[in-house]
Amino acid sequence: MENYESRTQHIDTIEDIDTIMDLQMINDDRQTSDIHYSNFSSSISQSKHSGRKKNDFTEILDEFNSGPQKKPKKEFFNAFIIRAIKRAFRAVISGKTPKTTCIAVDIKNGIESEIWSKIQEIYRKNPELIVNKSKTDDGPLTDGRSKRNTKSEGYKSFNNAFCKEFFSNNLMREAFNYIIELIYCQYSPARCCEKFKFNCCHMRNAHCVECDGKWMKLKEYFSQCYFKDLDVEDGRPMINTDDPEIIDIDIDSYIQ
Ligand SMILES: [Zn+2]
Ligand SMILES: [Zn+2]
Repeated sequence: MENYESRTQHIDTIEDIDTIMDLQMINDDRQTSDIHYSNFSSSISQSKHSGRKKNDFTEILDEFNSGPQKKPKKEFFNAFIIRAIKRAFRAVISGKTPKTTCIAVDIKNGIESEIWSKIQEIYRKNPELIVNKSKTDDGPLTDGRSKRNTKSEGYKSFNNAFCKEFFSNNLMREAFNYIIELIYCQYSPARCCEKFKFNCCHMRNAHCVECDGKWMKLKEYFSQCYFKDLDVEDGRPMINTDDPEIIDIDIDSYIQ
């Protein structure tokens, strides 16, 4: 639980980080993007691209905790995000705006609303496919089929092979990017802990700049490396030149 004080301590850094994140998305330049991040955490990305190892994601997640002495597992995240995507599409299909879990949309927030409308657009591009993909039993092994295992053990089957298959569809990659953006909207470490279901620190004190660094490093991993590491073609659909609308909206909202 985060109190007001711990949130306010971040206010001076939040704007910078939002701007940095936004610049990162807009100036989608893989060569220079790490420079932005080095402004607030020198540990970020320094060795990540040259001779990057296969278990980058595990290394990044190792800096977080999901309980005393527990580290979030890659498969846990995979299960988390794929279930979030399916849930988001089921909400779109039923004409509802999500109010709970990591996909909750604050309709009073312009950026969140815009992201939600982009997710709705994905559905309209191929309703039949989205209906199929959003089914709870379109998962590995027990996901949605057997209630016994889904909570505690089900995530283990969300291995790279399953994710590679799931994200081989570009609309699913698009949805992934939007949901990550949605989670990082109105950024704070406390919000990220709540949304991702794992923590950047032991929460004994206020979150600090190191917490910010961890969340930014994770976000960078999602935008630069997640699909590459799954060996699926990365179409990078989040911000591109044939989609100028969202760029305008983002710039206006962040520069205020
Ligand atoms: Zn990087
Ligand atoms: Zn923290």
